[in-house]
Amino acid sequence: MKRLLTFSQELLDRAVELGRKYTRYGEVADYIPELKKQNFQNVALAVIQNGEALYAGEVDTPFSIQSIVKVILYALALENYTVDELKRNVGLKPSAKPFNSVIELELSKKNVPVNPFINAGAIVTVALLHEIYQEKTMGVILNYVSKFLGRDVTYSQDIFMSERVSSFANRTLTYLMLTKGILPKDLEVEEVLDVYFKSCSIMVTCKDLAHMSYVLSNKGVNPDGTRVIDEDIARVLRTLMATCGTYDYAGDFAVRVGIPAKSGVGGGIVTASLDGYGLAVYSPGLDSHGNSYSGVRMLEFLSRELGLNIY
Ligand code: GLN
Repeated sequence: MKRLLTFSQELLDRAVELGRKYTRYGEVADYIPELKKQNFQNVALAVIQNGEALYAGEVDTPFSIQSIVKVILYALALENYTVDELKRNVGLKPSAKPFNSVIELELSKKNVPVNPFINAGAIVTVALLHEIYQEKTMGVILNYVSKFLGRDVTYSQDIFMSERVSSFANRTLTYLMLTKGILPKDLEVEEVLDVYFKSCSIMVTCKDLAHMSYVLSNKGVNPDGTRVIDEDIARVLRTLMATCGTYDYAGDFAVRVGIPAKSGVGGGIVTASLDGYGLAVYSPGLDSHGNSYSGVRMLEFLSRELGLNIY
C-alpha cells in the first residue's frame, strides 16, 4: 500500500468520529476502583508531525498512564544496565497470557517474567531501580517520565491509593517472585510496590503521549531537537512495543494496525514507528486484553487511510 504519512485535521476528525461509535463496546477498567470513574465516552487523538501538532477529541482530559509507564521504567533500567544484564531478571519474550498472569510467571524459564511490559516484569524493573536509587526512586522516575512527556508530571494520589488497596494480583506476583528468589528476600516490598503503583498513577493527556510517541519514533529526540534517550535504547523500546506492547493481543494488533505501540488500562495507546510522526490515542473503554477498544479502531483506521503499517 502507498505510504502517505501525512495527517490532516479532517482525517483526525473522521477517526475520532469513528472512535466515538465504538465507545460502547469497551469496558472501563474496574479492578482499580478509582478508574471506574472515567467517562467511557472520552475519545482523543493527537499527532505531532513536521513540528506541528494536530488534535481531535478530548486531548486535554487527564488520565493515568498505567502500563505505558513500563516503557519508560525499562528505559531507565537500560540507562543503568545492558539488555543482556537485564535478561537475568526479565526476559524479552512476547506473552501469550494476560498482563497479570500468575501461570505465565510459574511456567517461564527460571520463573523470570517473560518481558518488562507485563506486571511482573515491571515490578522486577522497579525493584532494580529501587536498588540503585533507594528512597530517591520515585523522584528520579518522575523526572525521567517528564522528559518523555515534554512537561513536568506527577501522580494522582487517589489512583495510587486505590491501586494500593485493591491490587491483589500484583501482590501475588510479587510474593511468588520472592518465593522463587527472583526478587531478593530482603526486598523492601511495600516501598517497591508503592513506586510501581505511583508510576502507573502518573497523570497524562493524549497530547503528552503524542510527545512520548514522537521521541520514540525519532530515535530518542524531542520535537525541539534535544535528545531524551540514546538511539539504541529507543530501538529496544520500539522493538519490545511491537512484540509485547499490547500483551496477548500483540499479534492481532500487528495485523490490524501494524505500528509498534504500548497500551495502558487508563485508555491510552502510544505508537512508535520510525516514520517521524508522533501519534497517540485515548479512550478509556477497554477490550478484554486491556487495550483501548476505540483506540485500536482509530489506529486501524488511520493505518489503512495513510498506509502507516510498517510490516
Ligand atoms: N497499574 C496496572 C496494574 O498493575 C497496570 C496494568 C495495565 O495498564 N495493563 O494492573
